Amino acid sequence: MKKILTLILVLALSVCVFAACGKKKDDNVLTMATNAAFPPYEYKDGDKIVGIDAEIAAEIAKKLDMKLEIADIEFGSIVSGVQSGKFDMGMAGMTVTDERKKSVNFSDTYATGVQVVIVKEDGAIKSLDDLAGGDVKIGVQQDTTGDIYASDTPENGGYGEDHVVRYKTGADAVEALKTGKVSCVIIDNEPAKSFVAVNEGLKILETEYVTEDYAIAVSKNNPELLEKINKALKELKEDGTIDKIIAKYIPAE
Ligand code: GLN
Repeated sequence: MKKILTLILVLALSVCVFAACGKKKDDNVLTMATNAAFPPYEYKDGDKIVGIDAEIAAEIAKKLDMKLEIADIEFGSIVSGVQSGKFDMGMAGMTVTDERKKSVNFSDTYATGVQVVIVKEDGAIKSLDDLAGGDVKIGVQQDTTGDIYASDTPENGGYGEDHVVRYKTGADAVEALKTGKVSCVIIDNEPAKSFVAVNEGLKILETEYVTEDYAIAVSKNNPELLEKINKALKELKEDGTIDKIIAKYIPAE
């Protein structure tokens, strides 16, 4: 009996070591990684990170009885940060892709987006056909689906690496368009509308890219959290909270 007890104790301790019990991760804190330069999903209002994702995350945390903490990091570091367990979840208007699914699990989807092209009203790019021009530089936010589509080969519907200039944030890419460093920016439609609304002289060219599903990234090692998030999302969809949050930031046209 004593032997068995010792064995159980040893096992319990080793599980604890493997699960990094010593890391002192506060069980009651839900950490979310985002990139807060993607309005209306996440952006800064003074020091505070606000937007659709921030508000939905706050509602999820409330349901889980946890305190939400948001970390503002580069978009391209979110998936690996979640995969390694540094953050509990990644929420950043993030599109579910097969490539990302190799590294993390995704929750049920809570919103959709589509890639569009922002150009200068009086610029040389009048239609999508002009994008294929030899000297056209396309600005994108690094590691986003816009980057992935634009950098792909022309045979696959892209424009090729040489035409793409990558920026750390969508806001930086738009700044580059304004100062003439790039001729257009490929980015998700809602952030595009937000950027065009606050920057004079820009407009949006519609594209026919497929609709993308936004979802929350969770570590593959944490299926319990994924389940809780999905349950919370379902309730928040059913009681109209998500619609209300989206309507607050995206007024009906
Ligand atoms: N939806 C795009 C993606 O997942 C862009 C997200 C973002 O820039 N925050 O790649």
